[in-house]
Amino acid sequence: MVKVCEIHEAIKADIVHMHNSLCNHLNAHTKQVEDVLNTTSAILTGNDKLKEATESANTGIKEIISKVSKVTATTDKIVLEMKTYHNALLIKPAQTNKMGVDPKILSDMECKAKQILVDMHSSDGDTLLNKSLTKIIDKANKALTLIEDSTKPTEVKVVAALKTRSKALLLTLNSRNAADWIREMDIKMKFTDTFSKSSHVRQRTYNLILPGIPITFNLDNAVHLQEVEEANGLRVNMIFKARWIKPIGRRRPDRTHTYAILTLFSVDATNGLIRDRIVICGAKVRPKKQKQEPMQCMRCRHWGHLVADCKSDSDVCGRCGDNHRTNSCMNKDKLCCVNCKDSSHPSWSRECPEFNRRCLLSDERNPENTMPFYPTEHDWTLVTRPAKIPLGERFPKRFVVSEAPRPERRQHEATRHASHKGAPKGKQMNLNFTPLGHQKGEGNPPVGSILWMAECDNSMLDYDNTDESNPLAPPGWM
Ligand SMILES: [Zn+2]
Ligand SMILES: [Zn+2]
Ligand SMILES: [Zn+2]
Repeated sequence: MVKVCEIHEAIKADIVHMHNSLCNHLNAHTKQVEDVLNTTSAILTGNDKLKEATESANTGIKEIISKVSKVTATTDKIVLEMKTYHNALLIKPAQTNKMGVDPKILSDMECKAKQILVDMHSSDGDTLLNKSLTKIIDKANKALTLIEDSTKPTEVKVVAALKTRSKALLLTLNSRNAADWIREMDIKMKFTDTFSKSSHVRQRTYNLILPGIPITFNLDNAVHLQEVEEANGLRVNMIFKARWIKPIGRRRPDRTHTYAILTLFSVDATNGLIRDRIVICGAKVRPKKQKQEPMQCMRCRHWGHLVADCKSDSDVCGRCGDNHRTNSCMNKDKLCCVNCKDSSHPSWSRECPEFNRRCLLSDERNPENTMPFYPTEHDWTLVTRPAKIPLGERFPKRFVVSEAPRPERRQHEATRHASHKGAPKGKQMNLNFTPLGHQKGEGNPPVGSILWMAECDNSMLDYDNTDESNPLAPPGWM
């Protein structure tokens, strides 16, 4: 019985012990659970805060994305509009002095920039030229549509056409860009291949009048022309051709230098030579732009038309005015101008009053004649020069320096000069107007006078076909 009681006590003690340890464990766990719960709630609170922060961050990010997209769009635009340094240099400078330029000149410049000249050859060319302008324009536009090229402007269209006397077509494009694009070598080949196999896009050329070129210079020799290109820093093949103005057969035997016309492909190079002069055969000469002058018919010698449109029944001699060709003239001593009937000059003379009247009319029609340079987008080429003052008016008689009674000897000299055959004919003698003749015994004019005349006097541009000697010209200059 005692044993049972002892066992019972021992079991009870164990159970109590177990209960206590369970209670302790439980308490410890409860505390841990509470800690966990606390931590969890803290995490949850943190999560809420995180959520709020995330939402606010999201809003911020959206704003940033919106701003970045705007910046990207702007950057793209800048990149599109941005030009390389090379391209920036190629861009033509902004205009600043076009305000004072004749509107007709500006309009002509714009018109020329949009034009291309297409030469037509053989019977195929004739067939196309016989079609109406509308059909020609349609054909040109079809040919342009077929050309595929990455640099092709958005719109390339021929808007007008003109048939020229020299079997060519002058096509006007819708824009400068379109015309520039067609002028590129590969594009113009593609265009003429489709437009007409017998056509060729002609390159625009610019003429210069060169004074004082030695007659020993061979203008037909390509090597000589290359030397001129090298001496003047011109690109290879920039010079198209060169020719003498006066036929070699009509050249005076004592002539050593004369006028020539140089034709170049580049307007900028041509203007550069007018501005800076040109070196030929080691000498620097001042070239002039070739002006638009009245045309003279080589058959009847009248002004205003060419042989192709001449209505005259017979040839008229430019020297004597009789009915025969000029080159078969036997009246070497007879002079008669067909236009003004004067016997002091031939029909081609630049001294002819009718020629000078027609020149004034031509200047009025072509305001570009008053410009020393070929007008381009460069400001300095748009300058104009006033018309030349005639020599008689440049030194009016009222300013004559010797109004006071002069010594006998000087009066005698003046009388001698007045009776000199080089004095202007039919004009009242101006005492300031002393001809610098080059007859034997008179001596050569002072060097200073030669330079002054060469620089200032347009009348020195006596590059006509006349055989008359200019009384003001020093030997060998013309
Ligand atoms: Zn005629
Ligand atoms: Zn004759
Ligand atoms: Zn005349």
